[in-house]
Amino acid sequence: MAHDDTHADTAAPDLLLGRIRDIPDFPRPGILFKDITPLLNDRTALAATVAGLAAPFRDAGVDHVVGLEARGFIFGAPVALELGAGFVPARKAGKLPASVIDQPYDLEYGTATVEIHADAITEGSRVLIVDDVLATGGTGRAAVDLVRKAGGTVVGFSVLMELTALHGREKLSDVEPHALLSV
Ligand code: AMP
Repeated sequence: MAHDDTHADTAAPDLLLGRIRDIPDFPRPGILFKDITPLLNDRTALAATVAGLAAPFRDAGVDHVVGLEARGFIFGAPVALELGAGFVPARKAGKLPASVIDQPYDLEYGTATVEIHADAITEGSRVLIVDDVLATGGTGRAAVDLVRKAGGTVVGFSVLMELTALHGREKLSDVEPHALLSV
């Protein structure tokens, strides 16, 4: 089949990697921030990313895609459209206006909380979680536990990029994250 650059069905790793910019010491000294805005800016890379995040889950009967604040929103909504699913934002504490279910998790210093609306996921709903970067896995772990607390079944966890040195995959062995890029 001829390759169509504007409507890529699968992600070409070099294309995507070349559109992710390393920003040293952002937002804090010692963090190498993966800036995805050049990828979002490129129509081919954007389409390939959305297609690649959705691809393994096309026949998984996904009811809802949960996107993790904030860059998981950007990819999560188009992935939901691709899969014929609804979209659920998982937000930091205090951002959602209606009644919520929450899940606290540990940060390097202190704790954080991730929340979804209490009525967003119904019992037995099949859920795909989407984010941009899997780092330590703390956020992803909290999101999986939150979806299960809400009565959902986690059918997958799909990310653009996994930072393998931080071993986030080990915290998510029960969901076996799907990553388009591993660096
Ligand atoms: P973690 O909980 O450590 O897996 O971190 C995952 C969350 O933090 C994701 O929502 C990412 O968007 C963000 N994140 C962590 N590390 C980085 C990084 N080096 N560059 C960009 N985003 C990151």
